[in-house]
Amino acid sequence: MITSIDELPPALAASVSLEEKKYIAKIQGPSMLPFAVTPHFAALARPQQDDPIRRQFFPDPREEQIDPFALDDPLGESRYRAAPRLIHQYRDRALLLAGGSCAGYCRHCFRRVWLCATLPFISAEELKPALAYLAIHPEIREILVSGGDPLTADNDRLTELFRSLRQTRPGLLLRVCSRIPVTDPFRMDSETTTLLRQFRPLRLSVHINHSRELAEHSRAVLASCVDAGIPVHVQTVLLKGINDDPALLAELFHACLDTGLSPYYLFQLDLAPGTAHFRVPLKQGLAIYRKLRSLISGLGLPAYALDIPGGGGKIRLHDDIIAGEKMTTDGPVYILKDHNETAWEYPV
Ligand SMILES: *Cc1c(COP(=O)(O)O)cnc(C)c1O
Repeated sequence: MITSIDELPPALAASVSLEEKKYIAKIQGPSMLPFAVTPHFAALARPQQDDPIRRQFFPDPREEQIDPFALDDPLGESRYRAAPRLIHQYRDRALLLAGGSCAGYCRHCFRRVWLCATLPFISAEELKPALAYLAIHPEIREILVSGGDPLTADNDRLTELFRSLRQTRPGLLLRVCSRIPVTDPFRMDSETTTLLRQFRPLRLSVHINHSRELAEHSRAVLASCVDAGIPVHVQTVLLKGINDDPALLAELFHACLDTGLSPYYLFQLDLAPGTAHFRVPLKQGLAIYRKLRSLISGLGLPAYALDIPGGGGKIRLHDDIIAGEKMTTDGPVYILKDHNETAWEYPV
């Protein structure tokens, strides 16, 4: 893991501005989302400051501007905490926060406040209450193993975790949420694929935002997962200056289809603090999605969705979603109506 400017590839290190240097020095303290990137991901970046790969991991002084809508827990996950590290929001699926660390940190992370890279991988002791909860909630058919990135743990720990989940609930579907196949594809060796295969039904959910992230080795390891009977779903975050263009998104989703991966969600940005410079306004996002639909087959089209700020859950975004607009003390918001006609708010 690269955590300082001198470890970056020389051209990239030379592209660092004085403001960026100052900001990086400032965030190395505790409780801030640290600067960290894998050598593989850094090598994919070009030295221009607006490069879509560089911007995803490079700390930006604009992160210090906290917009009035920012929420420390933008998805309201704390409201659905069923056991330590276990979030049960939707009836038939639950989410386990396996650990806080990732192979590198995305600057748009929605868990950037609590995440703290220091939260260790879950121990057998900490897992007990989650297992006890799963045992008495047979309606949970699926567990999302998330974090942090669970694949930062070694294979022995992963095996232990998956085995415990399976012993408690034999049929449980495991959904492993990771960015490692694109940030550190060499971690996904054949031993890891075999491990994942052993715990089927298991699906991988991979976070990918730009077609350049699907470099040759990433395509190869993801294709081998698919060959091994591990379906791979792709989650993308709509990000200003990175992929807010229907042609770029179509290129990414075509690359996914060519590799055997299924685009799953295109997310409207969550309201995490210090990420406002990444936000594509909702109306513009809807226009991008409309155009995208004309560029790509249904197989390659993810659902455009928003996690409603504060814990309202996921809703699909479509042209009729905006029911109105109003002024709040934080600024103007759209009123969004979900399928139950419940009204929610999202900044204009
Ligand atoms: C997104 C999410 C899920 C999974 O939802 P799907 O629509 O099935 O992808 C489950 N639990 C939580 C807390 C989530 O945020």
